[in-house]
Amino acid sequence: MRCLVLSDVHANATALAAALAACEKQWDQVVCLGDLVGYGPDPNEVVEQLRGLVTAIIRGNHDKAACGLGDLEDFNLVARSVVEWTHRQLHPENLRYLAELPAGPLHIDGLTLVHGAFHDEDEYVFVPEQALDGLLLAPGAVTFFGHTHLQGGFSFRDLELDMISLKPPRAASRFAVLRLQSGSRYLLNPGSIGQPRDGDARAAFAIVDSDQAVVEFWRVPYDVRSVQERMRRAGLPEPLVQRLAAGH
Ligand code: ZN
Repeated sequence: MRCLVLSDVHANATALAAALAACEKQWDQVVCLGDLVGYGPDPNEVVEQLRGLVTAIIRGNHDKAACGLGDLEDFNLVARSVVEWTHRQLHPENLRYLAELPAGPLHIDGLTLVHGAFHDEDEYVFVPEQALDGLLLAPGAVTFFGHTHLQGGFSFRDLELDMISLKPPRAASRFAVLRLQSGSRYLLNPGSIGQPRDGDARAAFAIVDSDQAVVEFWRVPYDVRSVQERMRRAGLPEPLVQRLAAGH
């Protein structure tokens, strides 16, 4: 079984389309770790595309905020203005879809899906100490998380917790490979489709192959400028337009 893991699409339909085209026919099912909307110019398109595609999906903090669930305390002024813009754009059926998304953790086919930290979807997991809960509490060996928009993650074996450093993909391939060791536990981030923050502007996602025990960490270029143009036309904040090209 090959499972495509998407996260933090953030209403970027161009990046999502490029990612899906790059790995066409290379997966059996698709799961999504939340934040379908927020920041980007295409909230309806992204929700409509994903709802027909995913086998399993959980909500992110931006999905909650866009449909008026929870408060906006954790959002800065720029992010807050986009939450309000997104809410105004979303068609009623798409708002309803987002409002009904379950919170993680969600368990499916041996994988656990969370948006942020294991028990708190709004909390970030950046460093090993923050990863420990997720590594130890998940029922299976592999948990996927998002929210930080940083591709990579953590492994745990014999009381040793390591950050996974991905070797850049070889020129001929579009992904770096992580071989899963039996007896190890993993907390893995596929990266962000719509707003990468690790200095690489390409769309990021992962494919986990449970038969081969490997995870592929993909990067796919897309037409960033066309997304920036739509953002400017929509009047979205200029710092968000700029950061898309810089990848942070
Ligand atoms: Zn996000």
